[in-house]
Amino acid sequence: MIQAKKKFGQNFLIDQHIIKKILDSINPNKSQSILEIGPGLGALTIPLLKKLNHIYVVEIDRDMVKFLTKKIPSNKITIYQEDILEVNDKKFSKFNFIIGNLPYYISTAILLKLAKINKNKASLFFMLQKEVAERVSANTSTKMYGRLSSMLQYYFKIETLFDIPAESFNPVPKVISTFVKFTPKKLSELNALNQENYEKVVKIAFQYKRKNLKNNFKGVLNESDFLKLNLDSKSRAETLSVENFINIENYLSRKKLSF
Ligand code: SAM
Repeated sequence: MIQAKKKFGQNFLIDQHIIKKILDSINPNKSQSILEIGPGLGALTIPLLKKLNHIYVVEIDRDMVKFLTKKIPSNKITIYQEDILEVNDKKFSKFNFIIGNLPYYISTAILLKLAKINKNKASLFFMLQKEVAERVSANTSTKMYGRLSSMLQYYFKIETLFDIPAESFNPVPKVISTFVKFTPKKLSELNALNQENYEKVVKIAFQYKRKNLKNNFKGVLNESDFLKLNLDSKSRAETLSVENFINIENYLSRKKLSF
């Protein structure tokens, strides 16, 4: 029996009803290519292979890799034994779907990495900690809306599909999970002139959560800039939509202001 390793965020799915619901949501066809992050003991990988000819997986734990190598014929699976955060961006370009029951200790880092890969046209289906799912999908001017929401909603349409109780996993985690779909927006909808500047604008805006825009953008935007942008400098970042952040980015990038 393989012991779950805490340091790799291992909580294995054991609930067949939930596994079926996940597969029904992804619903791939044989011609599509899928990358799974963190296959573990194959709770999703093995049933997915009933619908696919081949699957690609990235798994850091060599014990899991050994297990999968024994369990699944080598012509059905390509295993990259790597840290997902170290995988070269180019490797992500050929997939229709990137899926996974993510290791929660790095789930936001994985989401941000995948969001920023321009050529990544894949839809993502991820199981996330419910609290993270709420943050990524939060509407403007709500308690959960923040830097992560405005970063990810720039790149994706985000839908929370269903919750997964802690008892669906072994070992049982302390948190509830949510299954979330991320559909990439069209390149024509990504209207920042400079992607890095968009990220910087969002970072500055949310720098001090309790401060207003005027304070957070001190030395970058003055009152006349806010007027031109049609924004109230006394409001806070959580009231700004992705559109608003794009406008600020365009304004700063056009003026070639350094910030
Ligand atoms: N997919 C399996 C399931 O649903 O039962 C396992 C999910 S478990 C929550 C997370 C998986 O991600 C584990 O197999 C773990 O070893 C793997 N993992 C953890 N950190 C990783 C990393 N940095 N890169 C790749 N895989 C990682």
